[in-house]
Amino acid sequence: MSLLLKKTLYRLLRWLGVYAFLQWRHRKQAVILCYHGVMHGGENNYSNRNAVTAETFERQMAYVARRYHVIALPELVRRLAAKEALPDYTLSLTFDDGFRNNVTVAAPILEKYKLPATIFLTTAFIDSEKLGLWTERVDWLLQCAEKPAVTVEIDGNARELTLSTARDRIIASDVIRAHLKALSPKERETSIMELAEKIGATRRIDRQLEERYAFMSWKEARSLLNKRITLGSHTHTHSIMSTLSLAEAHFELSMSQKLIEAELDGKCDLFCYPNGSPRDYSPRDKELLRKLGYSAAVTLISGFNDHHTDCFELRRFNIVRSNDFNFFLAKISGAWGGLKKVFKNI
Ligand SMILES: [Zn+2]
Repeated sequence: MSLLLKKTLYRLLRWLGVYAFLQWRHRKQAVILCYHGVMHGGENNYSNRNAVTAETFERQMAYVARRYHVIALPELVRRLAAKEALPDYTLSLTFDDGFRNNVTVAAPILEKYKLPATIFLTTAFIDSEKLGLWTERVDWLLQCAEKPAVTVEIDGNARELTLSTARDRIIASDVIRAHLKALSPKERETSIMELAEKIGATRRIDRQLEERYAFMSWKEARSLLNKRITLGSHTHTHSIMSTLSLAEAHFELSMSQKLIEAELDGKCDLFCYPNGSPRDYSPRDKELLRKLGYSAAVTLISGFNDHHTDCFELRRFNIVRSNDFNFFLAKISGAWGGLKKVFKNI
């Protein structure tokens, strides 16, 4: 189905009152939104897909402030665990990774609408010179590639990937990232450095890239604490939990927690699984989280939360740049889940 047709359908469903009806139907369940970056402008391209514009974000925040009862995630977790009733239309806001733009662009908008939020920090990158998580660095390197093709070794076989068009680069990035996901953090880092050398990614970093990719510092993280913002862990190195040994998993969860508690002088008991799909974590990780004193964990599985939801598998709606306002409503009302299945069959 074409994008234009989809957009028309989303608008029509809003006009018909479908979203308002579904929001009412789910009013007793909590919505948790997931954002990554918020930036001024920027092209609507593949590498900016997880960074909504400040304008879009402000429109969405003005809407949730008006339409929902926005509570802090720790308060939502407390109520869910205590089986306390939730106010109708409860919603919590979260941000993954720990980008500086959360401090410089998102926080002032949250403050304007007096909205609480939780930011999950990938602690190895806080205060680091590196731009972006390893997944984003790979994306970014391929975008900046100065060679028309690159040969990479995947599972012992040499594979040539063309890099001529934007689409080629997206495909190459998907192939390389899928391969790197299975490596240990150290092996992965070496492979990324080799890749950078091979493709001659030397384009200078401009201001906008920095606004998109840079991580916050501990000082900036501390500055958020008196602005209704809580900070949780998103592992130390953004490793996917299900790829780790027990010792590595323990390290990721405890190191990030210790750093956050020491740097911010407070408790860190909220966690966010990198990637967040059901195959990215296991009962072992939930058990480890409990043992380390975490009280809840959020996933990227779409859905609502109520007293039947496992607090270590909370559902969230992922809000990305390509979501126009009607699409945003389709997502947070739960309509999108059903529409996705319909679109697949058209
Ligand atoms: Zn992440």
